Amino acid sequence: MINVSDLNQYGYCPRRYWYLHFYDTQGRNYERIDGKTTHESKSTRSDWINEIYLESESLGLKGCIDVLDDNGEDVIPVERKRSQRGQYYWNDELQLAGYCMLLEANISEAVPEGVIYLYSTDERKRIRITERHRESVQEAVSQIRSMTVDDIPPLVDNPDKCEKCSTRQYCMPYETALLEPKKAEGTGWEDRI
Ligand code: SF4
Repeated sequence: MINVSDLNQYGYCPRRYWYLHFYDTQGRNYERIDGKTTHESKSTRSDWINEIYLESESLGLKGCIDVLDDNGEDVIPVERKRSQRGQYYWNDELQLAGYCMLLEANISEAVPEGVIYLYSTDERKRIRITERHRESVQEAVSQIRSMTVDDIPPLVDNPDKCEKCSTRQYCMPYETALLEPKKAEGTGWEDRI
């Protein structure tokens, strides 16, 4: 089964997911370490933490939901994010959608929305889970399952993402674009060499 948090890695860049899972990197960057530390410190607060581990064979997903917000009518998964810019991205939504789907598979109730909580701005962003989210989750699970060690995904088509990527030292997008320009075609890297 695929870990829901891996949907986030995959959504950011499939190549990054490949390195993290097949290359055995210990690559970490500030955001990942600090995010983990923040999670750990928050998890000692007993008043709002409610971590819950779930699996679904039919979805092919497993994972731990940070917080379940039960307002009496709905149960809403909350995913906490450290984001210096106070923003969240499509890969964060993909992860949240994965948790919503995992939860509804376990409680047999619709979970139509989730929340992304941003530490930096102390904001709760409600995200409606659409068909596009659901299809993207299923597609990501299918594509992750079909990945193999000898088939590395191409460079991501947004070089800005590479700036903060902890696997950049293994992926070497600049060097790849320089030495194997065909592999950089259409990624934006061809304009940076
Ligand atoms: S450096 Fe860029 S292309 Fe390489 S894995 Fe990271 S995000 Fe993907």
